[in-house]
Parts: sequence; C-alpha cells; structure tokens
Amino acid sequence: MDNRTLAYWQDKFAALSIEGRAFIDGEYRPAEGGQTFDCLSPIDGKLLVKVADSRAADVDAAVAAARRAFDSHVWSGLSPRQRKAILLRWATSIRDHLDELSLLETLDAGKPIRDTTTVDVPGAAYCLEWFAEAIDKIGGEVAPSDHHLVGLVTREPIGVVAAVVPWNFPILMASWKFGPALAAGNSVVLKPSEKSPLTAIRLAQLAYEAGIPAGVFNVVPGSGEPGKLLALHQDVDCLAFTGSTNVGKLIMQYAGQSNLKRVWLELGGKSPNIVMPDCPDLDRAASAAAGAIFYNMGEMCTAGSRLLVHRDIKAAFLDKLIAAARNYIPGNPLDPQTSMGAIVDNVQLERVLGYIETGRTEAKLLLGGSRVKKESGGFYIEPTIFDVTTADATVAREEIFGPVLSVIAFDTVEEAVEIANASQYGLAAAVWTSNLTIAHEVARSLRAGTVWVNCYDEGGDMNFPFGGYKQSGNGRDKSLHALDKYTELKSTLMRIR
Ligand code: NAD
Repeated sequence: MDNRTLAYWQDKFAALSIEGRAFIDGEYRPAEGGQTFDCLSPIDGKLLVKVADSRAADVDAAVAAARRAFDSHVWSGLSPRQRKAILLRWATSIRDHLDELSLLETLDAGKPIRDTTTVDVPGAAYCLEWFAEAIDKIGGEVAPSDHHLVGLVTREPIGVVAAVVPWNFPILMASWKFGPALAAGNSVVLKPSEKSPLTAIRLAQLAYEAGIPAGVFNVVPGSGEPGKLLALHQDVDCLAFTGSTNVGKLIMQYAGQSNLKRVWLELGGKSPNIVMPDCPDLDRAASAAAGAIFYNMGEMCTAGSRLLVHRDIKAAFLDKLIAAARNYIPGNPLDPQTSMGAIVDNVQLERVLGYIETGRTEAKLLLGGSRVKKESGGFYIEPTIFDVTTADATVAREEIFGPVLSVIAFDTVEEAVEIANASQYGLAAAVWTSNLTIAHEVARSLRAGTVWVNCYDEGGDMNFPFGGYKQSGNGRDKSLHALDKYTELKSTLMRIR
C-alpha cells in the first residue's frame, strides 16, 4: 500500500530546498542582472521561491554554451549508443527522484500529486528512455541511383534547439522536446513557463550529474521575453514550441524576422467528443467525457471541451455525465485522495471565470460555475457544464483551458462532423459508436491529429505521433516522427567510376 499521505507530502515540502536559478553551461547561475520573479504556489498563493528572470544576457550565454558544446562534438560526436547510455542514466535518476520532482510539480502547477507521481514524472523518464532506446537502432538509406553513383541519405542533428514550453504538463511537455532533440545529438536551451519553472530547473542538475556534458542542456527560466529572444536569436537553429496558438503565430514571425530557424508548433485545441446514439457503453462514455475535460483541471490541450451528443440520447447521457463530473472535487493537490487540484495561477483563474460569466449569458448552466476554496488562498474552480444551443457560442468556440464543458446536440452524423470540423483547431477528436462504418467514416472525416474511437485520451505510450491540424500547429511530438524535427536530411552522392 502507498503510505505517502498528505502528511508525508507536507513533511517533505517542509524539508524541501527549492532551486530557482538558471542552469547554463553546467552550473546554476542567477540572472546576470540579478533580477528575479516570484514563483507562487496555486495551492495557497504563497511564495515558493524567487526564480531567475532571464533576459538577453542570459539567453545569449545559454545559446553560446549550447553552440560551443555542439561545435566541440562533446555530445553530437558521441556514438548513438554512448548518448543512449547517458540518457538512460538520466532517466533512472528522474525515477530515483520521483517524489521530489512530483512534489515540485504539484506545488508549482497545482496538479494532483496522484497524477504527478504516476503520469507526469514517470512519463518524462519514459520519454527519455524511449528516445534513448530508439536512437541506436535507426539508420539512414542507400538511395537507388545511377550505377556510377553511391547515394547515402543520412540524418544529422540540427545544432542548437530551443524548447519553449507551457505550464500544464511542465516536465512532460519539456521531455517530449528535449528527449528526441538530445537523443539526435543536438544541444538544447529549455525555456519553461514562468508559471511552472521548477522541475525544469531541477532536471538540469540531474542531467549534468548523469553525464550530459556542460552546455548541452541549459535552462533559462523567465517570462515570455526569453522565449521571444530565443525565437529571434540568430544562433538558434530550431525552435520547438508548445503553447497557445497566438504565441505560436508570433514565434513563426520571429523566425522569419531572424534566421528562418525551423519552427515546430504544438498549439491549442477545442476538441470535439462525439457520442452517437448507438454508443456501445454510455456509462463508460460519460465517465470518459468527464475525464476528458476535468482531468488536470481542464488544463489539457486535448481537452474534450466540446461534447457533441445525439439529441435522442442527450437527456440520459447528461444525467450520467453530471454524475461522473461530481467525482471531480477540487481539493488540496498534495492530498493523494484529490482528483482535481488548483488552477495554475490567479491570471488563469480569472480568465476561466471570465469565460464562465460569458457562458451564463449565452448558454444554460448545468453544473458548477464557481470559484471554490477561496479561503485557502489558492485558485480552485468546480467542474462546470454548459448546455449550448448554438455551436458558435463563445464558450463552445474558444479554448478556455479550464474545467468548462460545452454540450452541443446534433441530429445526423453529417451534422456532427460539420460541427466538429467547424473550428480553427484540429488537435484531437473522438467518436463513440457501435457501427464500424460510422467509426471509420467519421474518423476519416475529422480534421484532427489524433482521433479516438470509443475511448478518450488513450495511448499514453510513445508510439503515436502527437500534434495538430490547422491552427493546432505543425510537426509531431512523440514517436520516431519526432526525430524529423530535430534532424536535417543530407544526401551524399559519391561517384565511384
Ligand atoms: P503560452 O503560449 O502563453 O506560453 C507558452 C510558452 O511561451 C511559455 O513558456 C511562455 O513564457 C512563452 N511565451 C509567452 N509569450 C511569448 C512570446 N511572445 N515569445 C516566445 N515565447 C513566449 O501558453 P500557456 O498558457 O503556457 O499554455 C497553454 C497553451 O498551450 C494552450 O493553448 C494549450 O492548448 C497549449 N498546449 C498545447 C499542447 C500541444 O501539444 N498541442 C500541449 C500543452 C499545451
């Protein structure tokens, strides 16, 4: 039995020493100008630590260290097998520090400790292991060519990769970037979100201790500014971004204004979850629909935030959905019993509450709608469900990134697909049906990077590429396809006679 109770985590927190400096060229450093920002816990709004607020001098130092490391071949020049061994050591170290990293993530981002210990931190170690294990097993091609030639097609690391990541899955989203980027032989400068920088900062030391050479993995915490500076930097070869669509658009512009660095974007979503009248298991579908929007407080890029239900089963399905939603009770995320933690900060809390106010004017509130646990000083919102009559209502159209679900009724399969695709986003989608033809046809028609049939958010392993259509981004995280982002293809043609 797991004996890590709330008291266990509180004791551990009391004994925790939190690092807030940047990690550049193998060492922790304060920001060059000494400036810091306050890192507050959304659990109670209290200060956790002052974190280095990186600016141009820090970004330049990190990029220069990454470039030096890359050019010296200290990492890029290792054989894939040698890189694998070091990455595996780092992954083991992450697992060895499971409690510490999970605690940091929960304190910093408000995520339930039951999730950070089972999903986020083990998931980051697994991602590293997966790419470490893959990298010494894939090779290039000998291309068909004229008889007098031998033609090789090889992949080479790009150079300096900047990774700019969000706050909803801080360690996991970061690992989806630095895992393949480092495995491929690049140097990395990681810019965590200002709302959740702590695990990235701690990871850097574990990487160094595991044998990642100085300069190969650097962390520059700060606001959007260091992200922008990295995207504008002339000596960054690739920028891998996960975050909002609006900032993704800026990143593309910055690349165009500077050196045309490769830009890979994993952006927002407003994913449709379609329940047909022949859904094979309404209870399972209702439980999955609740999880799709209330897991991680709805702070999910793949959140099933638009629930499309056939009109014939809507009333029955809503009863089951509301019952399932009541299992998500906002509470102290350090308590292992808690399934719904705190919203990441006051800004996001106000944003979500603003959307709820808009929803009240354009839709019928079926559940929730309020901030709770205000006396804690933390930021908690209860599961909220709106019955929406028009699919273009604001709450049914815009990404809220909080525990707010819009339910939309439909009458035909064609109408469901049309509503599902009528979005600027195309990250994920799901359909529930017993009819194989409908399953295939709808899955084929949905304009989304991931489609689930009779499930939601399945596929936690690394084998499936993850990313979006339309304004949900370009490129794919996870799977061997992710390596495409961090390598250049080279054709070498040799005349042999
Ligand atoms: P955000 O775009 O506000 O910030 C993301 C990162 O970009 C942060 O590190 C931030 O400091 C930085 N940033 C902010 N302004 C910048 C600028 N002008 N130039 C460069 N960097 C800048 O997003 P967020 O609020 O941290 O995260 C939520 C968003 O992330 C949602 O839209 C969500 O859907 C998306 N997301 C997508 C995926 C995916 O895989 N598709 C996964 C998780 C989150």
